[in-house]
Amino acid sequence: MIKSMKFGGTSVGSVDALERMISIITKEEANKAVVVSAMSGVTNSLVACLDGKSEIAEITNGLLERYSAAAKAAMDEIVYKEYYNKLEDRVGKLAEHLETYKDAPCLALQDTIVSWGERLSSLTVAYILQSRGKGGISVTSEEAGIVADGAYGNGSANLEATHHNLQKNVLPLLEEGMVPVLTGYYGIGPEGRPMTFGRGGSDYSSSVVACGLEANCCEIWTDVNGFMTADPRVVPDAFTIHEMDYSEAAELAYFGAKVLHPRTVEPVRKRGIALAVKNTFNPEAKGTIIRNLKNSSQGILRSVASKVDLSIVKIYSSELVYQPDLVSRLVASVSGAAGNTYAVSTSLSTIAFLIPSNKLDDVINRISTMHEAQVEKYTVKGNVALICCVGDNMINMPGVAAKVFANISETGANIEMISEGASDVALNFVIPDDKALEAVRNIHKEFIGGPHEKI
Ligand code: ADP
Ligand code: ASP
Ligand code: MG
Repeated sequence: MIKSMKFGGTSVGSVDALERMISIITKEEANKAVVVSAMSGVTNSLVACLDGKSEIAEITNGLLERYSAAAKAAMDEIVYKEYYNKLEDRVGKLAEHLETYKDAPCLALQDTIVSWGERLSSLTVAYILQSRGKGGISVTSEEAGIVADGAYGNGSANLEATHHNLQKNVLPLLEEGMVPVLTGYYGIGPEGRPMTFGRGGSDYSSSVVACGLEANCCEIWTDVNGFMTADPRVVPDAFTIHEMDYSEAAELAYFGAKVLHPRTVEPVRKRGIALAVKNTFNPEAKGTIIRNLKNSSQGILRSVASKVDLSIVKIYSSELVYQPDLVSRLVASVSGAAGNTYAVSTSLSTIAFLIPSNKLDDVINRISTMHEAQVEKYTVKGNVALICCVGDNMINMPGVAAKVFANISETGANIEMISEGASDVALNFVIPDDKALEAVRNIHKEFIGGPHEKI
């Protein structure tokens, strides 16, 4: 039995959390590869440093202090001395990268720098395990051979190449009874440099590792009792969904449920590996198991998520639908510049794209440089949010959309775009940003319910 066990930012973020995590790992009898995130707040502070918002010494001293304080409390003195030397080396390397970046900023170096918190967590957790005689060993994504493709800041794993490397570099460690502690969040891109998988990417790393090790289970250890009916910070009545189908979890994660990185489901789904979401701070709670599961819903909807900071770009061209070449060029062009496109909708003479607002300038630049005589004009509607309602039974139930839209009309929100039918399990629509939270709460109240069991 092999497991990959991923611990997120809060799960490695304090002395208490680290102790809880070590106890979960050591109680686990399966062979396990651990995947870790940066301590909570660390990646944000690295991003802030890139933006020139803090001094290099301030950030490196802060990291040295935070990690060493947590480690000192958790390991004996001899191991701690060896650890501290290695920690100083890793922090020193970060300082060098930050100095280089100051003189010559570039995208590739940005990804290297923001991956640094994971390297420090991997070292720290491995040494704590070692000091307890549990065979911990720090393995960076470079050492493991996690291969990434795509763009800096938004890479994807090359599953085939990574599988080959993990079988060669990591599986033998498991077979020797060691506990490799891998860095989440990044792989090695085509230029041989670190390429991150986007914010929150350590969940995806864990799924990629599970797939590459042909594991039986991928566990995501976080700070809530599992995948819930909504974000509990938005809907206090939200409750845990104990079993979900891969496609339900994938849709919700892509459309805003932050508990899983948007692409976490795909690698494990490919091999039929179960994906579990568990609470580091309440390990006895059942959590969520995500696997192949059809017709699991009892009510109309199972869960609702929202994604804010989106914009609709609408492109006009007369009788656009009769120009399939132009349509495909526009789709390629806009999705290339936007990175993620959350919805596309066409009419006789328009095509509308829902994209992240921070990619708006890139998208507009791309459209403007297309020199398409046929593109008459474009319009932009900013400050919109996408609401994603999921239930695997929804497609078979007549009138669900009508009921949901009637509920939305009570908030006074105008529905700007609708996507239904493309997915078997999701109903997505777009409303103004400032109505998103109210809409999520209303939908949860009317169609999902609560307060139910909280575990
Ligand atoms: P980690 O650092 O462990 O990766 P994250 O902060 O990235 O943790 O994700 C966990 C958070 O996701 C929870 O604290 C919760 O507020 C938020 N969240 C959003 N949607 C959901 C949902 N549907 N179920 C559970 N948590 C959710
Ligand atoms: N540390 C990274 C982030 O904050 C990756 C992760 O936590 O999953 O985005
Ligand atoms: Mg996360």
